[in-house]
Amino acid sequence: MNDSPALLQPAVFFDRDGVVNVSPGEGYVLKPEDFHLSPGIIKALAICHQRGFKLILVTSQQGVGKGLMNQPTLDAIHVAMQEALAPADACFDGIYSCTHLSGTCSCRKPSPEMILQAQREHGIDLTRSWLVGDHDRDIQMAVNAGVPKTIRILSHHEPGITATHTLDSTEGLTALLAEVL
Ligand SMILES: [Mg+2]
Ligand SMILES: [Zn+2]
Repeated sequence: MNDSPALLQPAVFFDRDGVVNVSPGEGYVLKPEDFHLSPGIIKALAICHQRGFKLILVTSQQGVGKGLMNQPTLDAIHVAMQEALAPADACFDGIYSCTHLSGTCSCRKPSPEMILQAQREHGIDLTRSWLVGDHDRDIQMAVNAGVPKTIRILSHHEPGITATHTLDSTEGLTALLAEVL
């Protein structure tokens, strides 16, 4: 990795459930067939690449820690996701998952750890980066990592922390990203 500031690239960090794919509610997506991309998300991801931003997925998948699914199943869900995104050049450049039980690790949101690991591994300029999430923990993770701009997709999670921008659904995401990136 080259740390020269001129070669660092900004990123858009995406939460998964409720942003990239339709929220499973209080439960988990436990198999690839139950993973459904959100309306308009492929174009939204593609425009990030078009504007020179890396795409990084940061997701909490405690269902693995709880024994509801295993790591190979989670990996299979992500392989299928990447295959669906590939034709539009909308694949994630990095995927970071916290699969641990609450209170048993240091990477669970709102810890900045997954973002900071991606920053090291992908040469990301956090000061020019964005995060898109649907939960206070996502927005707080961005704040904790020094990612200055955030977009909240409203969901069943009650908003407590104010994001830079708020959208009713992912359908407006492409237009907003086209304006701000
Ligand atoms: Mg979410
Ligand atoms: Zn963790």
